[in-house]
Amino acid sequence: MQETLFLTDKLKTILPKIKEFLVNEIYPLETSEHLTGKFSKVAKILDQKRELVRAAGLWGLQHTEEEGGLGLTLCEFGQVSELLATTPFGHYTFHCQAPDIGNMELIGKYASQEIKDRFLHPLIEGKIRSCFAMTEPEFAGSNPVNLGTTAVRDGDHYIVNGHKWFTSSADGAAFAVVMAVTNPDAAPHKRSSQIIVPTDTPGFKLVRNISIMGEPSDHWSSHAEVTFENCRVPVTNLIAAEGMGFMLAQERLGPGRIHHCMRWIGTSERAFDLMCKRAASRDMGDGTFLGEKQIVQFWIAESRAEIDAARLMVLRTADNIDKFGAAAVRNQISEIKFFCAKIMLDVIDRAIQVHGALGITDDTLLSFWYRHERAARIYDGADEVHKSALARSILAGYGLETKRR
Ligand SMILES: Cc1cc2nc3c(=O)[nH]c(=O)nc-3n(C[C@H](O)[C@H](O)[C@H](O)COP(=O)(O)OP(=O)(O)OC[C@H]3O[C@@H](n4cnc5c(N)ncnc54)[C@H](O)[C@@H]3O)c2cc1C
Repeated sequence: MQETLFLTDKLKTILPKIKEFLVNEIYPLETSEHLTGKFSKVAKILDQKRELVRAAGLWGLQHTEEEGGLGLTLCEFGQVSELLATTPFGHYTFHCQAPDIGNMELIGKYASQEIKDRFLHPLIEGKIRSCFAMTEPEFAGSNPVNLGTTAVRDGDHYIVNGHKWFTSSADGAAFAVVMAVTNPDAAPHKRSSQIIVPTDTPGFKLVRNISIMGEPSDHWSSHAEVTFENCRVPVTNLIAAEGMGFMLAQERLGPGRIHHCMRWIGTSERAFDLMCKRAASRDMGDGTFLGEKQIVQFWIAESRAEIDAARLMVLRTADNIDKFGAAAVRNQISEIKFFCAKIMLDVIDRAIQVHGALGITDDTLLSFWYRHERAARIYDGADEVHKSALARSILAGYGLETKRR
């Protein structure tokens, strides 16, 4: 049953259209060949589907009305995102995929008109892709105040040097938003800035697409190791101001976590649906169906309750961000990040178990998600970071002031 608590008139109009499109155009592409091969292969088909999305008036729904979108609130977009995530190809086809969506939000809000004209508009139109390069192999990404990448001012330019990894979607991206130290003597949170480095800048190198759980992939669905060697970019490529890199990274993560969490709920729903279909149809050969086993019933009941709880938690948080801003609901953002990642991985795991051997083949979506979604407990703040932050904030209310450790 669809959640009606946060359903608006706009959503009542567009959600059925999106659902119909996914069922007719995208679900049929979820074949073993497309789920295991290089993404560039299926991207050719998805790029044709993107034209259909445009023609249906469903392109870039998350944008403001001036930018050609529907001006959805975060809470509304979250519900679109849930639906799109019922398939691994949904977000890309509707052009609201990470990391582009985060870069679009950030550049749209903080960059100069010149940068918007050069980078944002082609990105919104889907003519180019982008990536976000913050994490470095040599430093703990959980504490991104420590970075080795530098951007040193030289007249009207910055010279960028550094080594990044897990730069998602760098393969084929037109530019990277790079987090680099510009003010090494400033306080830790004020040392870095975010600067746009086009990937055709001399000195930019994509070292490799990192192989993840047996899959290097490519194109949008890749995570790259990249280096910057004396990359010279104009100072006008700076986003906002020097020293604001950390603040911008935090700003990006507020709405970004709603996007991730609602995506995980959509994925959980589809895995749940597969689990129930299998439980209801698997004949155990003894006159019973798998769904008659009590343990399977427990998994189904627990999964249903967890997904429903997670959805309400995330929509409440999104609604609060819309009303009060992300800073005001930092605790709720931490809560949903680790809670939703866990429930999604539990639901996927149970669904695999219910499918038996079939569950680990590439004949269902489940093994794809098992490989791809394990990372949910690591990126955008590992579970432990969010749990500690939440507990410290709660304990502060009891008079215990603790330090981040
Ligand atoms: C699929 C994927 C995509 C990514 N995409 C991008 C991207 O596009 N751009 C980008 O810049 N980065 C990206 N990242 C990197 C991601 O942001 C980092 O992996 C993350 O911040 C954790 O940093 P780390 O890997 O260096 O782990 P570390 O910081 O070394 O932490 C390792 C582990 O230590 C534990 N830990 C950390 N801090 C604490 C604490 N305070 N208390 C208790 N335990 C703790 C956690 O269990 C954590 O998993 C991506 C990562 C993945 C897996």
